[in-house]
Amino acid sequence: MKVITYSKNIFIPITDFCINDCSYCKFRSDLETARIMKLEQIKSQLFAAKRAGCKEVLFSCGTQPDKSVKFRQRFRSETGYNSVVELVTAACQKALEIGLIPHTNLGVIDFEALEILAEYNGSMGLMLETTAEVAAHYHSPTKDPNTRLEFIAQAGQLKIPFTTGLLVGIGEKKEDRVKSLQALCDLHNKYGHLQEVIIQPVKSTKKGFAGVSLVQLQQLIGLAREIMPSEVAIQVPPNLAIENLKGLIESGVSDLGGISSLTDDYINPEYKWPQLEQLKNQLEPEYQLQERLPIYSHFLQEEWLRRPVQVSLQREGWQNGL
Ligand code: SF4
Repeated sequence: MKVITYSKNIFIPITDFCINDCSYCKFRSDLETARIMKLEQIKSQLFAAKRAGCKEVLFSCGTQPDKSVKFRQRFRSETGYNSVVELVTAACQKALEIGLIPHTNLGVIDFEALEILAEYNGSMGLMLETTAEVAAHYHSPTKDPNTRLEFIAQAGQLKIPFTTGLLVGIGEKKEDRVKSLQALCDLHNKYGHLQEVIIQPVKSTKKGFAGVSLVQLQQLIGLAREIMPSEVAIQVPPNLAIENLKGLIESGVSDLGGISSLTDDYINPEYKWPQLEQLKNQLEPEYQLQERLPIYSHFLQEEWLRRPVQVSLQREGWQNGL
């Protein structure tokens, strides 16, 4: 029976303020209305997640909010921290102490910040989205494909187990998708750090986003499975493809990513996470749904794990996986 993995997580968006302005985005807020989470609020969510049996905490935020002087002032006065990275570092330390493994994706951050966060994360992530120059990214400087490929390479240099992926239907062509997958494959062949590649269909009702058909999505998943080495899982977010999950699994999907019973998918708030029971009913008996850590088991080795993460894994009895 084919095993389909997922991670039981909680999604904590530190702030939705972002210097980019991607035309399909439904997450971003302006400075005046932006959400900013304090460490105390984060801690209470972490405890709730632990009680609910989660193993992973996903920390995320808009891209480089600290670049705005006004944001920095507001952030400092509301949280007491000088930067988002400083607050997330403290939150990751707290999560490890409670017995949750952090997976952080703060967009493109500088090398020094990546190095600091790597110390307290089991894995990290950044969507490549596409290697094509698309109009949807004209107002989003960090969506430059070379910048993102360079960042994913830096994660490889730092030996961080890494999640990336393609955002599909944002104006890229079929050949761009092949190039994007090839670029990720080249990075993995060099650093060996990619644990999964997400194939995420854009869900935008805004003008200019036709999205992708089920057939196109299945073909792309098949292509991703062909191009990426077998140890790299192909993932699809189940809330974005719930009606066709079996077809997508048949095309090559083997992982459903983080699923939260406590928080929304803040990136696609109108698409609720399916309940695990619902997923099980949908997939069994052909497929077996199996929980995993945010670090895939083949990365549970000394060279891929920092000391604080190792200590937390050992304390929870997860050093060899679930
Ligand atoms: S970088 Fe992310 S949060 Fe910022 S505008 Fe683009 S999609 Fe939205």
